[in-house]
Amino acid sequence: MFTSLDGRTVVVTGGSKGIGKGIARVFARSGANVLVAARDGSTLAQAADDLRGEGGRVEAVTGDVAKVEDCRAIAAAAADRFGGIDVLCANAGIFPDKPFIELTEADIDAVLGCNLKGTMFMVQACLPALEASGRGRVVITSSITGPITGYPGWSHYGASKAAQLGFLRTAAIELAPKKVTINAVMPGNIATEGLAEMGGDYIRETEAVIPQHRLGGVEDIGYAALFFATDQAAYITGQTIVVDGGQTLPESPAALAGI
Ligand code: NAP
Repeated sequence: MFTSLDGRTVVVTGGSKGIGKGIARVFARSGANVLVAARDGSTLAQAADDLRGEGGRVEAVTGDVAKVEDCRAIAAAAADRFGGIDVLCANAGIFPDKPFIELTEADIDAVLGCNLKGTMFMVQACLPALEASGRGRVVITSSITGPITGYPGWSHYGASKAAQLGFLRTAAIELAPKKVTINAVMPGNIATEGLAEMGGDYIRETEAVIPQHRLGGVEDIGYAALFFATDQAAYITGQTIVVDGGQTLPESPAALAGI
């Protein structure tokens, strides 16, 4: 039986939409106090309203994780409103697509700035509070894209998602004496506002190659993140869990024939 997260404080970056909102919903339902963070204040306020009534208290703070000072402000807001931080879900991410050959330095900086540096800055900013918790948890939203698979147009994105895992393996060692674990969820294709921008053809072609023949739901990622946050996962650090409906399993199209 898993112990409850009732009363613990969770910071979810990118909590205004998509996977982050799904993670926030799952933690709120489990009784946690949730601080959602994102750049656009109106979407964020609407998300916080949607999430209130799920269980725990929900607060919102605007911030850009690509900016160190905003990461510090998000962490300070959690301490101010809830008295500390027990769990950081470093989820904020962008996935613009462009062929590798056309990528500019600005394109690469934007993706690495949010997805990789934003993750690292958020962990740094929350670390004093996570250590004070005595059972601090970091859960990164990585991806199958980069660490396992590739997709044309996402070379910079895939690099950022693989880099998150390189970061977490050393961070796990450095944070272990502070009783803080750090793990990552690696989603496959999840039905979110961001993914919808890829268009109907992309979604149909993707569903065809997933053994379960459907996209994942945002709460599928939320439950995996919740597991890493439980007391029962205290001895797991520096690890990853793929949540992809089996998408990365088929060796060839023949493996999917007839299913
Ligand atoms: P989404 O629907 O576009 O939502 C992204 C969230 O991140 C929004 O709340 C957005 O709000 C926020 N955000 C973006 N840039 C930010 C920044 N610089 N600072 C703070 N917040 C920022 O995306 P999603 O599909 O849920 O993806 C969420 C995470 O899951 C990303 O890390 C992505 O790489 C990962 N992922 C997604 C999928 C998928 O299939 N959807 C698969 C694998 C991995 P604002 O724009 O208002 O800031």
